[in-house]
Amino acid sequence: MNVQRQGGPGQVKEITSLANPIIKDIKSLAMKKFRDQQNAFIAEGLKLVIDALDMGWTIKTLIFAKSKLGNAAVEKVAARTVAAGGTVLEVSEKVLTAITRRDNPQMVVAVFAQQYLKLADIRPAQGDVWVALDRVRDPGNLGTVIRTVDAVGAKGVILVGDTTDPFSLETVRATMGSIFAVPVAKATTDAFVAWRKSFPGKVAGTHLKGAVDYRSVDFGGKPVLLLMGNEQQGLPDDLAESCDVLLRIPQAGRADSLNLAVATGVMLFEIRRGALKLT
Ligand code: SAM
Repeated sequence: MNVQRQGGPGQVKEITSLANPIIKDIKSLAMKKFRDQQNAFIAEGLKLVIDALDMGWTIKTLIFAKSKLGNAAVEKVAARTVAAGGTVLEVSEKVLTAITRRDNPQMVVAVFAQQYLKLADIRPAQGDVWVALDRVRDPGNLGTVIRTVDAVGAKGVILVGDTTDPFSLETVRATMGSIFAVPVAKATTDAFVAWRKSFPGKVAGTHLKGAVDYRSVDFGGKPVLLLMGNEQQGLPDDLAESCDVLLRIPQAGRADSLNLAVATGVMLFEIRRGALKLT
């Protein structure tokens, strides 16, 4: 390894004990309170960590299993971590299992600094699509939406109101790496409604009582802001009233509604229909 083992900053520390305070700090990132205190979150997997570094995310700690010692790709990432001022830890599998709360953990995990986009820094341009989620509760839904936003080439996600944490282990896992590619902003409902007034395009809400078939709308040209409702309650009146149009996805069968992430996927592929091509 290019970096020296043991000792001060920029060196590799070997840790096997779960009682080690550094490991205790990393394990505490399973809780939102400590993620926010440390402005940090955990991502798992070597490829994902490399992608995150390539996209300019700030790495705080790289943690890898002893079995990866000597692996060229891991050594390269370790050197990049040290160069960025981060810490590198070589740990036992038992430690990795405790950090990731998973049997058969990934052999490489990392702690990154959280990153949010400011609402005021969003500058929607022609053809841009943004997704706003009202009080999304389920980490799997949020992660799946972020992944889908990435897949269709939409610009980012705005979390409105009290939502699940985009940087929880479950959400980050469900994004399959897209957490690093998709900007996420957060806003209170009031701040969102105020910001929305200057949105230079169509604000399309989805609602089970929507009067307009989502397939009948021309989404070409101007930016689109797609607003999706909470899993249990749907869109509240203030948010529904802030939309230019309320769209419905027609359904057959007994289900009352679609899952939030599925509905978001259906909408995004329709809105981006003209932009997506097989290559
Ligand atoms: N009980 C909730 C309600 O009354 O709205 C169901 C919410 S649904 C699980 C979550 C969100 O997905 C909705 O708020 C809406 O944004 C979207 N959604 C689900 N099915 C839809 C459909 N058929 N048409 C339009 N939007 C839909």
